[in-house]
Amino acid sequence: TLILSVETSCDESSVAIIKNGRDVLSNIVASQIDIHKEFGGVVPEVASRHHVASITHVFEEALRVANVTPADLTAVAVTEGPGLIGSLLVGINAAKAFALAHDLPVVGVHHIAGHIYSNHIVEPLQFPLLTLVVSGGHTELVLMKDHYDFEVIGETLDDAVGEAYDKVARTVGLGYPGGPKIDRLAQEGKETYDLPRVMINQDNYNFSFSGLKSAVINLIHNHKQRGEEIRNKDLACSFQNSVVDVLSHKAIKAVKEYDVKQLLVAGGVAANSGLRKRLIEEMEYIPNTKLVIPPLKYCTDNAAMIGVAGTFAFLRGDRSDMSLNGRANMDL
Ligand code: ATP
Ligand code: MG
Ligand code: FE
Repeated sequence: TLILSVETSCDESSVAIIKNGRDVLSNIVASQIDIHKEFGGVVPEVASRHHVASITHVFEEALRVANVTPADLTAVAVTEGPGLIGSLLVGINAAKAFALAHDLPVVGVHHIAGHIYSNHIVEPLQFPLLTLVVSGGHTELVLMKDHYDFEVIGETLDDAVGEAYDKVARTVGLGYPGGPKIDRLAQEGKETYDLPRVMINQDNYNFSFSGLKSAVINLIHNHKQRGEEIRNKDLACSFQNSVVDVLSHKAIKAVKEYDVKQLLVAGGVAANSGLRKRLIEEMEYIPNTKLVIPPLKYCTDNAAMIGVAGTFAFLRGDRSDMSLNGRANMDL
């Protein structure tokens, strides 16, 4: 199979060409980070306009770099949701127009299925497996017993981890996107602030990060009121340790309970150095379960992951028609 895939759910316009479900022949990502930085976050209306402006060029680049012509392709895969509706629609309409022009089938793909399948580029998936999904909008543990069989065994009851990172970063004045900046600061700091590990000892696989976020924001305000300087590096380190403690504890507990062959990590926060380091350490003690973490370029949003998931969706017979529409909210 040779799949052209499209991802525009948030602020990255991306098109990739994937051969046989694993080989990334090209993966072009036009990021809008520099544009949204000025607003302190992604502005949906601005995002969709920039997708419109860049998508044609990104299609052409993906085909050129892969040295592929439309006639070589098997199908087109595109992110159907969840995401910003205006952004999704640009990718979906571009994908449908391209498919219509070249007489190709279209497959709609769930964005989080894409994040999960980004791991297949590194290491073929082996079942049963667990994925720790940690992104800007999702935090969940997903059990898979076969391809395209997703069971969410636990999820956040409020904020996603990436969202908590971005909000804390904004309060400290670090700007958008905050995750990588807090991560960098955390590596230079010490854990000196006492922060909660919410729900860590509860007998379930759910998470909650809004209490931690509020605790950090309160700490900053209290220091300000007393006229005391807050040490950003130590605060970042304390925050990151709290997040990593909770995520790794619950992930490892689930790995043991479900006795899986692989633990995958997926989503933008999979780029986090503290989380990667901790999981590598902890998984040394569980030699029968292999830890797989994608390289940084496949952690954040990209079309390659949509092409990989799209290949499996296509092979199991999934097809969308020209009525394919964006879905801002969509279950895995
Ligand atoms: P979703 O995938 O849930 O729809 P999204 O696509 O916006 O959300 P991703 O692109 O998967 O999210 O990830 C972006 C998030 O990852 C942001 O919140 C960003 O701050 C966070 N992030 C990126 N790098 C790091 C890092 N090194 N440490 C912590 N967080 C990070
Ligand atoms: Mg993004
Ligand atoms: Fe994402």
